[in-house]
Amino acid sequence: MAVLVTGGAGYIGSHAVAALLERGEEIVIVDNLQQGHRDAVLGGKLYVGDLRDGEFLDTVFGENSIDAVIHFAANSLVGESMKDPGKYYHNNVYGTLCLLEKMNQYEVKRIVFSSTAATYGEPENVPIHENDRTLPTNTYGETKLAMEKMMKWFDAASGIKYVSLRYFNAAGAHASGKIGEDHNPETHLVPLILQTALGQRSHISVFGDDYPTEDGTCVRDYIHVSDLADAHVLAVDRLRSGGDSAIYNLGNGTGFSVKQVIDIARQVTGREIPAAIEARRAGDPAVLVASSDRARTELGWSPSRNKLEDIIGSAWAWHQANPTGYNKQ
Ligand code: UDP
Repeated sequence: MAVLVTGGAGYIGSHAVAALLERGEEIVIVDNLQQGHRDAVLGGKLYVGDLRDGEFLDTVFGENSIDAVIHFAANSLVGESMKDPGKYYHNNVYGTLCLLEKMNQYEVKRIVFSSTAATYGEPENVPIHENDRTLPTNTYGETKLAMEKMMKWFDAASGIKYVSLRYFNAAGAHASGKIGEDHNPETHLVPLILQTALGQRSHISVFGDDYPTEDGTCVRDYIHVSDLADAHVLAVDRLRSGGDSAIYNLGNGTGFSVKQVIDIARQVTGREIPAAIEARRAGDPAVLVASSDRARTELGWSPSRNKLEDIIGSAWAWHQANPTGYNKQ
């Protein structure tokens, strides 16, 4: 039986594919290559197409014996989602609806879902627990929450079991050096800092220093992408062994401010990395830090690449070796 990975050519998806390959899984990948990269797919059978294309999905489900889906394919930028909410509802929410309906049609009853801390919005408590209030402050988080809720009702009606993994801030690159983070346009803090370290940008912009945090900049919980990938494999195992639907936070439980991340990157790279304070970015909560106790207890997840120095170090190795990302020109 094969695992279908949607969005498997993207940043986190490609690392999940690598983790599945390492344990010899048969893998089918669907990606429309809007954001994904063909070269990020280290193995498995890649189908290039869109979840909203019913005939395309019929080919994928018809040609393969799929017993579980890991669903990454989505747009995932907070800033963009505030400017173009329709794009997020169409690709994320409608795309997921199309996928779930196909799963129903082909009687595939397991899905692991790529969710986000953005489902919580401004947190009630720090660290955040899975039962805390979900009140997203941006369209991206709102669509991910809508997708989770859709899965809940498909479970109730059709017994499609889901594990939703709410990631905090993914960073870092695979130990092999073969895959890493490459978005176009790049909007994420760690790769932007490292592009600045490489001299590709004049400075890193700090989006607001008037938040209610110690140094005034936003605090986030950074987690190594390969630790996230491992959690998806464990979630597939849980569903295959008859486990019930569940939601898990995935983070390290330690918060770093934007300024602290820049300082650590300066130490790791030995480069100056000029920074400039700019206006807040719409939709950003001040502090997002996870309690991942539930994932540790119920999934047996134990992230092993915890130090931010090492996470940034692995990203730095990728950026130095691939200064233009997957595009080698
Ligand atoms: N950030 C920043 N400058 C940038 C990009 C991001 O100050 O050029 C901040 C952003 O406001 C947030 C944190 O860095 O507080 C992490 O942002 P990112 O986009 O990497 O991830 P997100 O938290 O949106 O998932």
